[in-house]
Amino acid sequence: MEDIKMTSTKALYAKLKPELDAAFSTVMASMGMEEGQQVQAFAESIVNYLQVQHATPCANGADALQLALLSLQLPVDTEVILPAFGHEAIAATVAAAGLQPVFADVDAQTFTLDPASVERHITPATGAIVAVHQFGQCAPMQELLELAQKYKRWLVEDVTQALGAVYVGEDEKERKAGAIGQVGYTSFFPTKPLLDSGEGGAAFTKQTELAERMQQISQNGRNGRYTFNSRLDTLQAAMLDVKLKYTDEYNEARQEIARFYDNAFAETELVQAPQRATYSSQTYHQYTIQVAPEVRNGLQQHLSDNFIPSAVYYPQPLHLLEKYTSGKYKPGDFPVAELLSESVLSLPMHSELKEDQLAYICLHVLNYVKQNS
Ligand SMILES: *Cc1c(COP(=O)(O)O)cnc(C)c1O
Repeated sequence: MEDIKMTSTKALYAKLKPELDAAFSTVMASMGMEEGQQVQAFAESIVNYLQVQHATPCANGADALQLALLSLQLPVDTEVILPAFGHEAIAATVAAAGLQPVFADVDAQTFTLDPASVERHITPATGAIVAVHQFGQCAPMQELLELAQKYKRWLVEDVTQALGAVYVGEDEKERKAGAIGQVGYTSFFPTKPLLDSGEGGAAFTKQTELAERMQQISQNGRNGRYTFNSRLDTLQAAMLDVKLKYTDEYNEARQEIARFYDNAFAETELVQAPQRATYSSQTYHQYTIQVAPEVRNGLQQHLSDNFIPSAVYYPQPLHLLEKYTSGKYKPGDFPVAELLSESVLSLPMHSELKEDQLAYICLHVLNYVKQNS
């Protein structure tokens, strides 16, 4: 059996090597002459893929979120509602942009924002809600859009982990994750779905006025508070433009892997497989199981002892990180986020996993939880 890897960056490079090498050579050969052309081409590709109107590529996901937030021109200290269970960079970036991170709980089935909890945390100071499409499927956008409209707040989408996920609204219309709220953003960091070779990000919107502000701020623009400068590297843009074309294919391949895991874990209640929301496709950026908090760390150690990588996303609920919230929250405020941080484990998930590897992983997970629960 081949070594089991958490992601497949190298295997993907081997597969796409001819195309990626050709793109690389084109950029190197045109150095200085066609500056910005690849970046522009990639921006158009992402606009077409997501069915948004405008995209502003930039240096990473955190910068993309800053661009999205800055384009909204929210006053200093405006509150921005975020899921309490999620990537720390989101809270850090909101704070860095001079805004106040405020949290809401998530849903235990989908790991995404719970609209009822969001509504409870809307105050006169709230400016925006950031819906994170966690682990590969959409947040409940219908309810969140209704809240955003009812209270006249902005709805921002973090598409990083669900690039290519399709959302089906009550009107039965299909929309790509990122084309639902007023602004969206994504990261192209190497561990994210496009498996970029370096750093990258993009902010997008359907509104021309917001797009113009994003564009202007990203190019040495002042946003009223500080000067900001963030661009996507030309080489990365050329690589990403190749990889974007394969997004759907790899999303489908991961769904196949997920079915293998789902079937294996269906036999016991000791392992809860990730649930599929009815309103969204699931791209399985992560395959995240839930087990009893008492066995989670032992299970991770057991897997590691058997050469199976796994990861805890996310070990700390964000509302309990003092540095962003200055003691505003206490344990118990967001029980779902707190329980998830103690019970989740993400298993290896990528298109290159083989059946013998999957069977080996499932066997070790099942044996451990049965013997230790
Ligand atoms: C990784 C990640 C980010 C931050 O992206 P960077 O490129 O590392 O700045 C933001 N949101 C989500 C959901 C992420 O997974």
